[in-house]
Amino acid sequence: MTPLIKARDLVRIYQIRRGLFGRPTPVRAVDGVSLSVMPGETLGIVGESGSGKSTLGRMLLGIDDAQEGSIRFQGQPMPARHTAEWRALRAKMQLVFQDPLAALDRRVPIGRQIGEPLDIHRLIPREHQGARVTELMRAVGLRPDQADRYPHELSGGQRQRVVIARALASRPKLIVCDEPVSALDVSIQAQVVNMMRDLQESNGIAMVFISHDLKVVRNIADRVAVMYLGRIVEEASSDAIFRAPQHPYTKALVSSVPVPGKLLEGRVILQGEPPNPESRPSGCAFHPRCPLARDICRSVVPDLLDIGEGRTAACHVVAGETTPVAA
Ligand code: SF4
Ligand code: MG
Repeated sequence: MTPLIKARDLVRIYQIRRGLFGRPTPVRAVDGVSLSVMPGETLGIVGESGSGKSTLGRMLLGIDDAQEGSIRFQGQPMPARHTAEWRALRAKMQLVFQDPLAALDRRVPIGRQIGEPLDIHRLIPREHQGARVTELMRAVGLRPDQADRYPHELSGGQRQRVVIARALASRPKLIVCDEPVSALDVSIQAQVVNMMRDLQESNGIAMVFISHDLKVVRNIADRVAVMYLGRIVEEASSDAIFRAPQHPYTKALVSSVPVPGKLLEGRVILQGEPPNPESRPSGCAFHPRCPLARDICRSVVPDLLDIGEGRTAACHVVAGETTPVAA
């Protein structure tokens, strides 16, 4: 089967200037990422802030350009941004991000905003949108009689449901969700995530679900890619990541997720400074925080290697344990 989206060796570099007279310094926000998502599949992307997840998500939709690398959507090269081809493709690819209030227009009733993509992509003229908007509102658990409300008249959870309904309007093949429930009360996060999973499954939509919160990703992802300072350090099925993480960074992330009824025994606590893309450590970027770091880790960048059972990891120690050393 052809992947719905396939990215190869993506690189995104920002120029950051420190102070008024500082020289611009290049920062590699995304540093050689390859991934693919099959139709109807959910790929979770996890990592701390500064790991490049949001930039990667925007690159997948062609909103942020890649300086290097390539993206294919349904087997075809991604057209250049703002071309007619790209705009046509955007009907099939939607973005849902953290803050629904920023995504919505506070002066426009929500029903009209949900129908907006139907206008933009010339799918259904406004005067005939009623039935589809009603259907979308029901699908996300909103009452159709709320269509005349304004965003500020709704709760945060309801606003995110509006954004999701709007994302579904054009019947996309792919939705990239960037921290879609992080701004919501913990008590309603699970409801919204479960709703997203049901909609994704019933509509056969592929999803890239970006989050710093592993608990959330565990509920929704088929596969998980773990990012650290712009690179994928481990990728595996969601089950494998949570049952038997291999990379030391993934181990620390997974063990920091509280499991009800389990004591803190065996927990790996992440030490040291959180990752800063402006000062990437040499070799394995995780080495200053890694309990297993050895000399080679300080000088040689580990490649992302196949470690069997459909998993990959970028770690000298993991690779040494899984690859038989030639005699
Ligand atoms: Fe730790 Fe070395 Fe593996 Fe990096 S390569 S995660 S520093 S053991
Ligand atoms: Mg982010």
